[in-house]
Amino acid sequence: MKTELLYSWGLFPPFGQTPHPVFWRKDLNDTMAKLVRDHGSTLAFGNGLSYGDSCLALSDQVLHLRHLKRFIFADWERGVLRAEAGVSLEEVLALSIPNGWFLPVTPGTRHVTLGGALANDVHGKNHHVGGTFGCHVKRFCLLRSDGSELICSVDENAALFRATIGGLGLTGIILWVEFSLLAIASRDMNVLNLRFGGLDEFFALSSELDHIHEYTVSWIDCLAKGRNLGRGIFMAGNHAKEGPLLPDTGARPGIPFTFPFSAVNNLTLPWMNRLYYQMASPGRKYISQSYAPFFYPLDSIAEWNRCYGKKGFQQYQCVIPEKEAEHGIRKLLAMISGSATGSFLAVLKRCGNIPSPGLMSFPLPGITLALDFPRRDLNDDLFKKMDALLRETGGRLYPAKDTVMSASDFKHFYPQWEELEALRDSGLCSRFWKRVIS
Ligand SMILES: Cc1cc2nc3c(=O)[nH]c(=O)nc-3n(C[C@H](O)[C@H](O)[C@H](O)COP(=O)(O)OP(=O)(O)OC[C@H]3O[C@@H](n4cnc5c(N)ncnc54)[C@H](O)[C@@H]3O)c2cc1C
Repeated sequence: MKTELLYSWGLFPPFGQTPHPVFWRKDLNDTMAKLVRDHGSTLAFGNGLSYGDSCLALSDQVLHLRHLKRFIFADWERGVLRAEAGVSLEEVLALSIPNGWFLPVTPGTRHVTLGGALANDVHGKNHHVGGTFGCHVKRFCLLRSDGSELICSVDENAALFRATIGGLGLTGIILWVEFSLLAIASRDMNVLNLRFGGLDEFFALSSELDHIHEYTVSWIDCLAKGRNLGRGIFMAGNHAKEGPLLPDTGARPGIPFTFPFSAVNNLTLPWMNRLYYQMASPGRKYISQSYAPFFYPLDSIAEWNRCYGKKGFQQYQCVIPEKEAEHGIRKLLAMISGSATGSFLAVLKRCGNIPSPGLMSFPLPGITLALDFPRRDLNDDLFKKMDALLRETGGRLYPAKDTVMSASDFKHFYPQWEELEALRDSGLCSRFWKRVIS
């Protein structure tokens, strides 16, 4: 039977990964040893929700760990959970919400695995008050390709603890993760959606509203020009004090096949952006909403990445430090709206100053901008110009979303790379790492 290959979420670069599924923790060592012997190296693959090549093995032979999805321990008094690394955030929520607990940090999709959340030290809409996922990790177990199993925490194997949080899966295979949860009284959220007419208004709203909300994020219309440059919708939310404690599940419609060409293009983009902008009604009114549409709007359509067609798409996510943020974001948006390529999904978020224990964690105190572009050659020139601005402003790119960062930029953005390389497991290597280290 032909094995179906795995790809990263952006379907670009198009290197199909041969999956080697592992169902039991006790089998991991032998499978990893065989792959290293036969192919030189391998890499853990969670759910492939990284956009670029950081989840692609240099050998294209991955340890597929999604089946390692058992819960090991739960303390519902203190809100502490230990689970295998293949457990998804959705599976955590299904168990924790009825017990009055929520994820301490969640990215924009609940299909991410705990191993993937740890290896990319993911951040969410509460970075300004909650930091990254790694801030809530108490300990984890790491399997190295020499067969050793190491418990890592701030007190035990501390260097590997630091290097594995945001360590891009290069320090060993994470077998299980123990982390703290956030107490909630309801699954519902009180949500404010506010339209803003330009970047000045975004910064004013962010200063006014970030510190009184647990979660904030903004969508922007990155095709808008002139006075409308940077217009968008500011979304803020807090956990409700009352309501049901039930997981929000339900069938989702899906995209059944990969489109032959991108449905997101120069004809559809301006129309989509305008329509989305008009959808938020003006005025300040809180609405009650379940957590799923607030945190995971994109999850409502399964495999939406297929809309971008066979060539796939590229995400460009950067962060610019606070001092340079307003000027830098304005310049980036002007570059995009003046280019012949565009993005429907453009998200702005203020990152706070809670440091991550991780060595290579992406966020910096400042503003992060994430954009999805249909894959075209035109992107290459635009991204190069945007990278130059990041160098000037002291910003950097997010490896979990990257497809283009040059080796010199990576080393400039992440001078800690040498410490990670020194602790890297020689049996593990990604296409991303090879690209940025050579
Ligand atoms: C719609 C969408 C929204 C997103 N929103 C955000 C966001 O808001 N914030 C954010 O930070 N990210 C966001 N992301 C990115 C995503 O959260 C990360 O890329 C995440 O790491 C993917 O997890 P995964 O389980 O799919 O792992 P994969 O993509 O399969 O792998 C990610 C990395 O983890 C490593 N890894 C996986 N499992 C293990 C293991 N057991 N042991 C060792 N290493 C392992 C892999 O080797 C790889 O380096 C988003 C992605 C999508 C598609």
